[in-house]
Amino acid sequence: MNQTYQTLAPEKDPMGAAIAEYQQKGKAGKLRVLSEMFDEDEIPVDYLFRTYDEMPAIEQRALDLAYGDVLDAGAGSGCHCLALQAQKRGKVGELTAIDISPLSCDAMRAQGLKNVHCSNLMDPGFDQKFDTILLLMNGTGLAGKLERLPALLNRLAQLLKKGGQVLVDSSDLRYLYEDEDGDLDMEMLEGNYYGEVSYQMRYKNVKGEYFDWLYTDFDTLRTFAQNCGFDCEKVIEGDHYEFLARLTAKE
Ligand code: SAH
Repeated sequence: MNQTYQTLAPEKDPMGAAIAEYQQKGKAGKLRVLSEMFDEDEIPVDYLFRTYDEMPAIEQRALDLAYGDVLDAGAGSGCHCLALQAQKRGKVGELTAIDISPLSCDAMRAQGLKNVHCSNLMDPGFDQKFDTILLLMNGTGLAGKLERLPALLNRLAQLLKKGGQVLVDSSDLRYLYEDEDGDLDMEMLEGNYYGEVSYQMRYKNVKGEYFDWLYTDFDTLRTFAQNCGFDCEKVIEGDHYEFLARLTAKE
C-alpha cells in the first residue's frame, strides 16, 4: 500500500503558529483547545517552553531516565531535548527531535537543536535507531485511536536499538465517565474506549482540523505493549491519574 505520511500545513497548524510566535517574540496569544466532549480549554504557550524545573515530576523522571541516543517524538518546541542538552551530564548522546509541524521544527532549530526532522513518526522513511524514545505530554496521543495503538508501538519497536527504552506518559480518563457507583457510563461513551478524544486547536486566525488523541489507562497500555513484544512498567504516577510508563523489548 502506498500510504502518505503527512506533515502539517502552516495555515492549519495553530500550535506551530503559537510556538513560532513565542519563540520569536517571547510572548504569544491564546492557544485554544476545543473538543465536543469538554469545555473549551487553553494551553498556556509558555508551558510549551518549560524548563526542567518547570516540568511536572513525571517528565523530570523521564529526562532523568534518558540515556544514549535520544529521540523526542512529537517534540513541539523541543523543550525536553533542550533540557537534556542543558544538563550536559554525559548520560545522553545524540539528541534528535521529530515533529510533523514545520513551524515547530524551525523554532527548535532556532533554539539550537541540530537534529530536527520534520516528518511523521510513522513514516518509515525516517529509519534511525535510538536508545531512548521520549513521547511526553500524553505521548500515547500520537496513536490517535486505540485501534491504532499497535501500529504506534510496532513503529517504536522498529526505532529502538537493542536494549533501548520508550518513555511515554498518559492519563487514565476513566473518572470523567464514572457514575456515583464507579461504573462507566456506557451510553455517554457510545461503545468507544473512554480515552479516545477529538480536539481542535485555534491560535488567532489559524484554525486546525479536528484530530484524534488517545489517552490510555496503564493496564490498557501494558496489555497492548505486551502484545507488541514489550515489557511495560509504571515508573511513577502523578496526582491526577497520569503516569509515566517505561517500555523495553521482551528478552
Ligand atoms: N512533546 C511536546 C509537545 C506535545 S504536543 C511537549 O511536551 O511540550 C504534540 C506534538 O506532537 C505536536 O507538536 C505535534 O505537531 C506532534 N505530532 C503529532 N502527531 C505526530 C506524528 N505522527 N509524528 C510526529 N509528530 C507528531
